Amino acid sequence: MRVLVVEDDALLGDAIQAGLKQSGYAVDWMKDGVSAEQALATELYAAVVLDLGLPRLSGLEVLRRLRSRNDQINSKRVPVLILTAMDTVDDRIKGLDAGADDYLVKPFDMGELAARLRALIRRASGKTEPLLQVAGVMLDPAAHRVLYQGKPVELSAREFALLHALLLNAGKVLSRAQLEEQLYAWGDEIESNAVEVYIHHLRRKLFPELIETIRGVGYLMPRDKAS
Ligand code: CA
Repeated sequence: MRVLVVEDDALLGDAIQAGLKQSGYAVDWMKDGVSAEQALATELYAAVVLDLGLPRLSGLEVLRRLRSRNDQINSKRVPVLILTAMDTVDDRIKGLDAGADDYLVKPFDMGELAARLRALIRRASGKTEPLLQVAGVMLDPAAHRVLYQGKPVELSAREFALLHALLLNAGKVLSRAQLEEQLYAWGDEIESNAVEVYIHHLRRKLFPELIETIRGVGYLMPRDKAS
C-alpha cells in the first residue's frame, strides 16, 4: 500500500514516515502543498495524510482541488486524513466539509494514525470486514498477520504488502508496475524482478494456484476463490 504524507514539520513528518513504513506502507513524503498536488496528479495512493498548515498551498486548498476534479488518478476516491492543531475546530470542520474522511488532532499517537488509515483504506476498497480471506488464506491487516489453513505464515513486510494489495483487488488483474507502486516509495531502489520474486515467495509459502500469472499483463487473485 502506497500512502502520501504531506507535512512541513520535519520532525513530525519523519516520525510519521518511519511509523507508517514500520506498519508496512510505502510512504511518499511531501513538505508543501504544491509538491503534494503534483504527487497526487501522477501517483496512485491508497490514502493521504494531509497537514492543513502548509507552505505554498494550504492543505485545505490541496483537498478542495483534489475533490473538485474527476480527471486525476486519485480524484474523489482516495481517502484523506487531515492533521489539525488542537485549537482549530474551525479548520477541522472546513476540512471535513472539503472532503476529508477523517482527522487527527496534534499531538497524536502513531498507533492510532496507523489504525485509522487501515480503516479508511478498508472502507475505500469496499470491504467492511477487517479480515481478508481467500481460499484458506486469511490476512489480518490490523494484527499484520497471515494464516493459511489456520496456521501462521511468516511473511516479510513486502510480501505482506503484495498479498494485501492482491486480496483488496481480488478479481482484478494488477500490472507489475501497479504492484511495484504498492511496494516502493520514491527513492527506494527497485530491483527489476522484485515483484516476480515476491510472487514466487507467496506461492511457495501459501500455495501455487493462489495467484495467477496473466502473461504480458500482470497478476490476478481470482475473485471466485474469495470467501
Ligand atoms: Ca504545518
